[in-house]
Amino acid sequence: MRMDQLPTPCYVVDEDQLEENLKILAGVMEETGCRILLAQKAFSAYGLYPLIGKYLNGTTASGLFEARLGRQEMALNPALAERKLETHVFSAAYREDEFAEIASLCDHVVFNSFAQLEKFRDTAIKHGAGIGLRMNPECSTQEGHAIYDPCAPGSRLGITAEQFAEWTGFGGTREVSVEKKLAGVEGLHFHTLCEQNADDLERTLDAVEEKFGPYLSLPQMKWLNFGGGHHITRKDYQIPVLIRCIRRIQEKYGLTVYLEPGEAVALNAGYLLTRVLDIVENGGISIAILDTSAACHMPDVLEMPYRPPLKDSGMPGEKAFTYRLAGPTCLAGDVIGDYSFDRPLEIGQELIFQDMAIYSMVKNNTFNGMALPAIAFMRQGECRIWKQFGYADFKERL
Ligand SMILES: *Cc1c(COP(=O)(O)O)cnc(C)c1O
Repeated sequence: MRMDQLPTPCYVVDEDQLEENLKILAGVMEETGCRILLAQKAFSAYGLYPLIGKYLNGTTASGLFEARLGRQEMALNPALAERKLETHVFSAAYREDEFAEIASLCDHVVFNSFAQLEKFRDTAIKHGAGIGLRMNPECSTQEGHAIYDPCAPGSRLGITAEQFAEWTGFGGTREVSVEKKLAGVEGLHFHTLCEQNADDLERTLDAVEEKFGPYLSLPQMKWLNFGGGHHITRKDYQIPVLIRCIRRIQEKYGLTVYLEPGEAVALNAGYLLTRVLDIVENGGISIAILDTSAACHMPDVLEMPYRPPLKDSGMPGEKAFTYRLAGPTCLAGDVIGDYSFDRPLEIGQELIFQDMAIYSMVKNNTFNGMALPAIAFMRQGECRIWKQFGYADFKERL
């Protein structure tokens, strides 16, 4: 069926655009020999893992459930068996009752503290999971979005250089303690970027080398994971600078470089279809109430906050008819944004929000008893519904 025949609300993942993105990422892998993983927390529509796994090296997870999903649907997917895809995990803290399973599912487990390393090192080694530590290079490269800055003062994410030195005794009785204290550790990880370009990565690498260079040089180290937040598939992304960054680490330290983008994998590769339910007026503003909700179906619009792109619309006042687009929930702030149109909106009319594949399905909720949008996949304009949700999906969580 065509897009306009789908029920609303509905997320539509554009497989052609997804594949375009995957080809760009594969180009970086071919050029450098780095390994790129899908960060599932941004996008976990596993019906498309067979496509993603044709290009990338596997998945990374934020905990047990994502690790299971990545392992089952990508690494163990029969269609991808000969690709030997990997499953990685980072969590700010692991639960004791889950860790053995996590270690059995994952090729790499990354710890966020020395206490967690001590607690789980033997279990990780027993299950053959490679151990990494997350560093905090304390190098903020983004303004404005403090909640997306793991380098902000007081951050719980990553171990600082000072804590590393204290724990390992580096600079003191080094020979004795570093090897012992970091026994089993074979990689380091940082994740400090969010929707950023490669110049910010380059600055971050300067800080990483300055503060953690001696650890990168230890003979036991095999890999460095650059985390996510690299907006590699965005038009103005400086791929040559990224390639330079990857080579720099490969050549200087002889390490395998991993990247684990989420956004960049499915950037601009999805839509959210919705319909106008009613139009009300207040204080000279026309407000269109939609069958989708910012609070339930695009929570980053309120959290980030941002104004999602909408097909065939302009900024408020740019086109002849301006509307505030809002959800049907009780939340007064369930407002998506103000948009203008060439013609007045009509009740029943369909609207298409863009860039809705990432951080959408994975974050949606049923506040107010809102139904979850269906999920469809589109190839060359032809759509098939992958999932539909109903009352049971709402009730079963309560
Ligand atoms: C969020 C996250 C990612 C993916 O980030 P994107 O901004 O979606 O690219 C990768 N690794 C870690 C550890 C993360 O927390």
